[in-house]
Amino acid sequence: MPALSEANVLGGYLGKILRIRLSREEVLVQELEEADLRRFLGGRGLAARWYYEEIEPGTEPLGAANKLFFFTGPLTGVPLPSTTKFSVSTKSPETGIYLCSNSGGDFGPHLKFCGFDGLIIEGRAERPTYLVIRDGVVSFHDASHLLGLKMSEVRGELLEAMGDSKASVLCTGPAAERLVRFAYIQVDGRAFGRGGPGAVMASKNLKGMAIKGSGEIPLANPQRVKEIRATAIKELRKTVASHTQYGTPQYTEVINELGCYPARNFQSSYLEGASSIYAQPMREHYWARNFACYHCPVACGKVCEVREGPFAGARARPEYETIGMLGGSCGVTDFAAIVAANELCDEYGIDTISTGNAVALTMELFERGLITEVDTEGVVPRFGDGRALVEMIKLIGERRGIGDLLAEGMARVSREKPAWRPYILEVKGLPFAAYDPRGFHGMGLAYGTSSRGACHNVGGWTIRAELLSGEYDRFALKGKGQLVKDIQDNRAYVDSLGLCTVVRRSLGFTENPQGDVLKAVTGNDFTPELMEIGSRIYTLERMILVREGIRREDDMLPPRMMTEKVPDGPAKGRILTKEMYEIMLDEYYTVRGWDEEGVPNPHPGPPPPAGEGMEV
Ligand code: SF4
Repeated sequence: MPALSEANVLGGYLGKILRIRLSREEVLVQELEEADLRRFLGGRGLAARWYYEEIEPGTEPLGAANKLFFFTGPLTGVPLPSTTKFSVSTKSPETGIYLCSNSGGDFGPHLKFCGFDGLIIEGRAERPTYLVIRDGVVSFHDASHLLGLKMSEVRGELLEAMGDSKASVLCTGPAAERLVRFAYIQVDGRAFGRGGPGAVMASKNLKGMAIKGSGEIPLANPQRVKEIRATAIKELRKTVASHTQYGTPQYTEVINELGCYPARNFQSSYLEGASSIYAQPMREHYWARNFACYHCPVACGKVCEVREGPFAGARARPEYETIGMLGGSCGVTDFAAIVAANELCDEYGIDTISTGNAVALTMELFERGLITEVDTEGVVPRFGDGRALVEMIKLIGERRGIGDLLAEGMARVSREKPAWRPYILEVKGLPFAAYDPRGFHGMGLAYGTSSRGACHNVGGWTIRAELLSGEYDRFALKGKGQLVKDIQDNRAYVDSLGLCTVVRRSLGFTENPQGDVLKAVTGNDFTPELMEIGSRIYTLERMILVREGIRREDDMLPPRMMTEKVPDGPAKGRILTKEMYEIMLDEYYTVRGWDEEGVPNPHPGPPPPAGEGMEV
């Protein structure tokens, strides 16, 4: 199979990968195989493909043998709306298994303007290092002066070093240096948020990267791309206007009012008094401006400012999940406190979802008398206390008191403190996102079967289908296996295109893909095969998990979901018992063609040699 640079048949791709070996300060350029692009598309698909080949099952997440595989998709950086996304895969220090993550920002587009579809980081630098990549030329620099700085300061320093405020910066905060296992990687205000890729970067002594490219991405039919862009922008103004107005915080009201919200560490699925953290008051009292990723006309980011009170001066962009976990799950209905907590998480560089789970757990343990103020360095962590929320985040970000244990992530907390397990909400070590599946059962299956643990994105955002479309009974079990599979496969291919999921419908990238976007960009009509490609990617991710020891029992939900009925609110009395859950799981394995242990057929064998195709 010819390498792309020789055959040059597909637009949208550059055909090359940059591999950076930190230990030797060595840079290699490798060619991409066209056959891989046709099978795995790009982004998340290629990130899984290369991880499968290069990361052995026993690899230590924070050891030098772990790697970071960054991949763009064929749409990343092309002149269409919201072509901002790129993916990373690595072994997660939070879960100890495979991690894929996806981020906006300008880094992916600039990687392509530098002439590369992917970037692999391996080894460990001898000293704290940052990288500058200018039009594909890589230089290594001492990052000692960046250690201990807040995330915003690190970003500012890297932009200054680059001498170009329009460059893109990918970096970590101080929590990553302390190896907090859910430290994230920030990319121009967006993030690879979940699973702790920031800690992996820090373990490699890599503090950040600044990049700027000026090359062009080849397009098969530039005129048609222009036409598609004009139509899509018009369409988006109508179809996702609520995202421009309210962003993802618009979901707080609907999810809470339907009884699917993470109230007080998921003790309930409805939070009394939550109307103060809905989108309308956010817009009226805190909204300052919108924030957009690369080439995005939607601008769903809502920059919020606290103008008065004890948190005055705080500034952040809380998304639905952040409001849910730092707000709802901690019982906090003071939006100002949520903004302050969000800002603090951003400056430390820690995932707001995992952090919210950790603080909510502490609040429940404290109220049950299982921990005391001695554990929390004098903080009194009670549900609803915004100041305590902020103080607890400092303990985690700085690894002080109980924060040192919480920073190890829920998988380790659960192992070390078996008495706390009834109050821990996680699957495969990844804490729950801000949805209670007792209120809509497909979400339980999405959490259980997600390739990276309890995630609503990779696992499947069933909200549209189960809560908004009117087409599904949210408490039904039958049909949810097929539904979740379809949503997962759709997301897997969209994540591999390099496109934001918010705009995918307007460009025809649904569960029933349509349109000629990919033909216009690449010259190849991938469209009829997209769901099959998504399924192939999902199966490959499962093969990786199986190789790392994951089986059916790891797909189970935590005890609270399976043994405790929702005590109040619109989903009062609802539960998702093991028997109920297994009905959905069996259907899911069947529609995927996996066996009863969740093992794909064919069983994963040893990885093929680099450059050869896998039979997936
Ligand atoms: S819709 Fe939001 S997340 Fe998506 S690209 Fe635009 S600003 Fe970024």
